[in-house]
Amino acid sequence: MAFEGLTERLQKAMEKLRKKPKVTDADLRETMREIRLALLEADVNFAVVKDFVKKVREKATGAEVLKGLNPAQQIVKIVNEELTVMMGETAVALEKAPHIPTVIMMVGLQGAGKTTTAGKLALKLKEEEHARPLMIAADVYRPAAITQLQQVADSIDVPVFEEGTNVDPVQIVKDGMDQAHANHNDYVLIDTAGRLQIDEKLMDELAQIKELTHPNEILLVVDAMTGQNAVNTAEGFNDQLDITGVVLTKLDGDTRGGAAMSIRAVTGKPIKFVGEGEKMTDLDVFHPDRMASRILG
Ligand code: GDP
Repeated sequence: MAFEGLTERLQKAMEKLRKKPKVTDADLRETMREIRLALLEADVNFAVVKDFVKKVREKATGAEVLKGLNPAQQIVKIVNEELTVMMGETAVALEKAPHIPTVIMMVGLQGAGKTTTAGKLALKLKEEEHARPLMIAADVYRPAAITQLQQVADSIDVPVFEEGTNVDPVQIVKDGMDQAHANHNDYVLIDTAGRLQIDEKLMDELAQIKELTHPNEILLVVDAMTGQNAVNTAEGFNDQLDITGVVLTKLDGDTRGGAAMSIRAVTGKPIKFVGEGEKMTDLDVFHPDRMASRILG
């Protein structure tokens, strides 16, 4: 189960604190040390942990928390608040185009869950906004990718624009956009190619698609289970493409939590959605406050 180890360790640290009738400076230091270790073990980025611990400590001492009533409870509250801030504070909605279609580019490494997430998002838009999305199959490097997108799209009854694997992806996107305009689709979701790692050719192709479509959203799909790598991937894609948001997938797995907690702080870009399963309905808006409460258990 996700965050299990982290939740357990944070709860232990807090429990110890709660048992004290009075909380001294030394107790606070000890609690902060335990929180620091718990976060590092959960694969949270080192700089992010350092900053987090500093902020909690400042708030806990600055507000004279230790001398007040229920100091332990107040510290728990501060930890919860700062975790929320670290993950972006509030949910961030999808950007919409002033004139249809709103263009959403899905990017990410192979296996992160890009195609699945494109389908989940299309379904969400259909159900919540009665939208009429069009999906564009722009991954021409794996023939199976187009079939997979088609299967996903069929299962949610959304059309796919595809031109096989012998046409340049930028041209496919151009033709797909023409079709979306002609058919008055209100959303276009572009399923771009993924690679096992970031390479120049991939980035160049994505940059060309960006240039062509001026997307309202460039959503990077990353696998939460990959921890620090997810954060590095997010940094890499953001440097090259200036992404607008992140979708964190596989949060239903046994992720330690590092990616969920570091991505916003490291890239400055919000996590907009989380994937919590393989079904088309397993996509949720990311709420930093709810996630903080879930992590704290
Ligand atoms: P792509 O290569 O990035 O397009 O990745 P896919 O969409 O093909 O997904 C790779 C695998 O991850 C598939 O087996 C998906 O069913 C699975 N997957 C995607 N998102 C999630 C998720 O949120 N939770 C779980 N458990 N599996 C997921």
